[in-house]
Amino acid sequence: MTSSFSNLNLAEPLARAVAEMGYESMTPIQEQAIPVVLQGKDVMGAAQTGTGKTAAFSLPLLQRMMAHENASTSPARHPVRALVLLPTRELADQVAQQVKLYAKYTNLRSAVVFGGMDMKPQTAELKKGVEVLVATPGRLLDHIEAKNAVLNQVEYVVLDEADRMLDIGFLPDLQRILSYLPKKRITLLFSATFSPEIKRLASSYLQDPVTIEVARSNATASTVEQHFYSVGADDKRRALHQILKARGMKQAFVFVNSKLGCARLARSLEREGLKTTALHGDKSQDERLKALEAFKSGEVDLLVCTDVAARGLDIKDVPAVFNFDVPFNAEDYVHRIGRTGRAGASGLAVSFVAPSDTRLVADIEKLIKTKIELEPVEFEEDRPRISEQGRINDGRRMYREAQGSDRPDEPGVRVPTQPRERREMREPRERREYAPRQSNAPRDPFFDQPYESTLSADAQPAWEAAAKSAGPRGISANIKPKKKVAALFKIAVTES
Ligand code: AMP
Repeated sequence: MTSSFSNLNLAEPLARAVAEMGYESMTPIQEQAIPVVLQGKDVMGAAQTGTGKTAAFSLPLLQRMMAHENASTSPARHPVRALVLLPTRELADQVAQQVKLYAKYTNLRSAVVFGGMDMKPQTAELKKGVEVLVATPGRLLDHIEAKNAVLNQVEYVVLDEADRMLDIGFLPDLQRILSYLPKKRITLLFSATFSPEIKRLASSYLQDPVTIEVARSNATASTVEQHFYSVGADDKRRALHQILKARGMKQAFVFVNSKLGCARLARSLEREGLKTTALHGDKSQDERLKALEAFKSGEVDLLVCTDVAARGLDIKDVPAVFNFDVPFNAEDYVHRIGRTGRAGASGLAVSFVAPSDTRLVADIEKLIKTKIELEPVEFEEDRPRISEQGRINDGRRMYREAQGSDRPDEPGVRVPTQPRERREMREPRERREYAPRQSNAPRDPFFDQPYESTLSADAQPAWEAAAKSAGPRGISANIKPKKKVAALFKIAVTES
């Protein structure tokens, strides 16, 4: 059941902003949380990212603050009334951008402060006066200590992604920040899970909270089509190319488990003709924001990222998420695929499962309470000729029957025709070549350099062009002879 924003009787400037966003009806978290927050009650909300929870807390808080709205230029007339705390800079930036959009027709001001950036411009903004302050805990404490942020008039506090804030070790910082705030206030806590630690935090800082749970924690959105392909480490890039092409995908997130693997994979894909950028923890703040912007503007097609860097990022309409590496932590699977199928849109989540990943897949299966079927990958170039098509079709049918599936064939992604012997002959030689890197892991400075796109912004080819220029294993003509050393690593993309 969904209902319209018009039932909320929001102030005209807020209603206008919502209409401009194109939201037709409230999402379930909005439907449940907005009326409760409007009534001034504390909320403990379990909601995945992508459910519309930012609007669920910002709209009613802005509505309540409209009573104090004024056009005065005096900073004293714009004290911090709402404080929103988030675990990462990217999330803080993202939430702040949304709040700005919702408040754009009001005189309510908002600002964001997070670490890794110069304090001065943030200080200047704070000194001008802001009603809504979005912040990461560490940087907020810096501003409090420097007396740039005065919090004695705060009426509303939002602890967003509270589980992640505790994971990162922000509890002492949160306790300090909360100790500076007036006791009489409304506190909203959002978390993906209600762990014992989260419940303890809630019982210390929330008063008679209304619990709202829109989707079972650890549930994956039903709008996401999930596939798990059984594919050897050496064939993952080839499989990625093929699925993108077969599905006509425009953009995708590609998740890996390590920073080194992230930079390396991004380089390889770029060489293979895909417009790619990398997002990982070793990137400077500026580089991370640029990578995000490039993806958002469509300048790049693939964003290769690690979990920490990508947690909670809201980029609309990502049609696909690839788990190039199966995540070590099953909960990260839920967070990763939360990037697609957001707010009702449909999405595709593809995981590449190597033989050594069986236990990780079993963990995911347990967590999402859904049986996972491993599907094989058939590579175009390995397909037998037309005369054998009848046999292949039989194979497809048998495979589907064995899997209990009645779905139609998808070209090139599911049928087991990879000749076994050939792969077994090839693999030992490649393993010998790359084994020392995997175990001793000497860091290669080549891969520690920040990743830089070599393609110009208007460079053409996405998958189609890449496919055209690709050699038999999907390697493009873009690999230049002088980069031989890097090309040698083309298959060792999953190393830590
Ligand atoms: P969030 O869970 O707050 O990160 O929001 C995820 C995305 O859903 C954001 O891009 C919002 O702009 C979008 N969104 C929020 N509320 C709605 C709504 N009622 N209808 C459609 N999209 C929405």
